Amino acid sequence: MKKHNFSAGPCILPQSVLKQASEAVLNFDNLDLSLIEISHRSKNFVAVMEKARSLVLELLNLEGKGYTALFLQGGASLEFLMTPYNLMKNEGGKAAYTNTGTWADKAIKEAKLFGEVAVIASSKDKNHSYIPKNYTIPSDVDYFHCTSNNTISGTQMKTFPKFDGVTVCDMSSDIFSRELDFSQFDLIYAGAQKNMGPAGTTLVVVKDEILGKTGRTIPSMLDYQIHISKDSMFNTPAVFPIYVSMLTLQWLKDLGGIKAIEKINNEKAALLYAEIDSNPNFKGNTATEDRSIMNVTFSLTDDNKKEAFDKLWNAAGINGLNGHRSVGGYRASMYNALPLESVQALVNVMKQL
Ligand SMILES: *Cc1c(COP(=O)(O)O)cnc(C)c1O
Repeated sequence: MKKHNFSAGPCILPQSVLKQASEAVLNFDNLDLSLIEISHRSKNFVAVMEKARSLVLELLNLEGKGYTALFLQGGASLEFLMTPYNLMKNEGGKAAYTNTGTWADKAIKEAKLFGEVAVIASSKDKNHSYIPKNYTIPSDVDYFHCTSNNTISGTQMKTFPKFDGVTVCDMSSDIFSRELDFSQFDLIYAGAQKNMGPAGTTLVVVKDEILGKTGRTIPSMLDYQIHISKDSMFNTPAVFPIYVSMLTLQWLKDLGGIKAIEKINNEKAALLYAEIDSNPNFKGNTATEDRSIMNVTFSLTDDNKKEAFDKLWNAAGINGLNGHRSVGGYRASMYNALPLESVQALVNVMKQL
C-alpha cells in the first residue's frame, strides 16, 4: 500500500500524474520514443512547455496581464540571486526584505552581494514562530521581498502589505494552494518540488514591465529577459520535471483549480490543528494566527513519549514526519496532492498515544 507521505520536499504528487509520467518515460505521445530521449525543440515537447506555461498563468488568474511564466533551473536558491541581479539598480541599489525564516535569511544573504538590504521585519527573536506585522516598506527601494510560506518553521503570511513598488515573493511551498490576488506580486518564484513536480525546475512568474531597469550587465543564463525572449528555452530545459509539472497543473485544473484545492487544504489543516490543540500530548510550534496550512509543525509535550509516538506513526505507514533539524519536533507537510485520508490516519495515530 502507498505510504501516507508527509515529506516536506521533494514531496507527494498525484498518483495519476506519477502513472502518466512513467508511461511517457517509455512511450511519449505514441511516438515510440521516450519523453526524455527526444529533442526539446520537437513539436511534441514544445507543446508541453507551452501548455505548462499557459496553465500557470491560467491557474493564477494572470492571463493577459503582462506576465510571463518561465521554467528555469537552479532551484529557488538561484532565484535568491537572480532577483537582485535583475531588479536591484547597479548604482545605489536598495531592497527591503522580511526575514521570516531560514529561506528568507538565505535570500537576504544573496541580495547583500548586490546592494543595500533593509531587513524591515524579522521573526528571528522567536525562532521564526510567527509572522511579523505592521512594518513599513520604504518607498525608495527597488523592490520588496517576502516569503509567503515558511516551510521549515510552519508559518504562513495570511495577508500581504500594500506596496506601490515592485513586490517579489518566494512561494516555493504554497503556490497553487490558496486563492490570492496574484497580480499584487510582480515576481513570484517557486522550486517545483514542493507543490508542483519533481526537483529540477523552478517556476518564475514575472511581470515583463519591471525588467531591464537596473543598468547592469546580466550574464545570459541569469537574465530573465533573455529567458522570456527564448520562450523559456534559452538552453535545454529540464524536460522531465516540466512535463510532470504540466501534468500536475492539469490535474489541479481538472479538480476545479486553486479554489477547489484550497477548500480541501483548509479541511486537512483544520483536522490536524484541532487534534494538536485538543490532545494534551501535543502542542503547536507557531503563533495560532500565523499557522501554515501546508507545513504543520508541532511537538510532544513530554519528550519521553517520542519513542512510542515514532513507533506508532511508522507502523501506520506514515512517512516524512520528522521536523527540520533546526526546529526539531514534527512537521506534517500537507501539499495539494496529500489526501484527507492521510491526515485522518495521522490524527488516528495521535489519538492512540
Ligand atoms: C525549499 C525552499 C527553497 C529552496 O528551494 P531549492 O529549490 O532547493 O533551491 C526556497 N524557499 C522556500 C520557501 C523553500 O521552501
